[in-house]
Amino acid sequence: MTTDMVDPRSERLEMVERQIVARGIRDPLVLSAMRTVPRHEFVPEDLRDLAHDDRPLPIGHGQTISQPYIVALMTELAELRGEESVLEVGTGSGYQAAVLAEIAARVYTIEFVEPLLRAAAATLARLHYRNVVPRLGDGRLGWKEMAPFDAILVTAAPAYRIPQDLLDQLADGGRLVAPVGGEVQMLSLVRRRGRTFERRDITAVRFVPLLGAAE
Ligand code: SAM
Repeated sequence: MTTDMVDPRSERLEMVERQIVARGIRDPLVLSAMRTVPRHEFVPEDLRDLAHDDRPLPIGHGQTISQPYIVALMTELAELRGEESVLEVGTGSGYQAAVLAEIAARVYTIEFVEPLLRAAAATLARLHYRNVVPRLGDGRLGWKEMAPFDAILVTAAPAYRIPQDLLDQLADGGRLVAPVGGEVQMLSLVRRRGRTFERRDITAVRFVPLLGAAE
């Protein structure tokens, strides 16, 4: 290796220490997943130098791959132990789906924008993520045939409220993590207990809006 070539693995390990461990993410399964998934493979080729920066990056079609810390935080809030079935709304690059797939048994992921779905599905297949099932569609409706889900992650923001179909598809005891709001949103954690949904505000975030007809 010449001196000006950067090793993505060492950049990734440094990213996890500086941006994720340093900010308080402690779940060993999440840290291990973040150290394993090759983030640079999910970033457009001309932006690979920036793949481990502390920020979201454009992936085309006005969409983004989320900041590494936010991916880790949302994954930690999902409280995965290995047997879970997880739904992700907003496949984007496929990176968050791959992080989830390192821990959970099955990941179902829905994307609204066809070229993004195709590119993400190809990346996930190339990297052998066989427990991820990607699908084109409106994630606000969830994925009824595969419900209930132990965890649901929404990676685009509904302006006013979490879609009812998603809440309905959450298993008893399940966790749903979603940003809710306009330009700046509140990342919310919802835990289902029978017919009750307990909601906790986590932190302010900035996601792209959830697409589709008005809520
Ligand atoms: N999780 C992604 C990743 O790891 O790269 C980042 C997601 S990006 C912040 C949000 C994604 O949600 C975009 O790709 C966008 O096209 C998608 N999206 C927006 N509205 C959607 C909807 N109604 N159903 C499914 N996907 C949607």
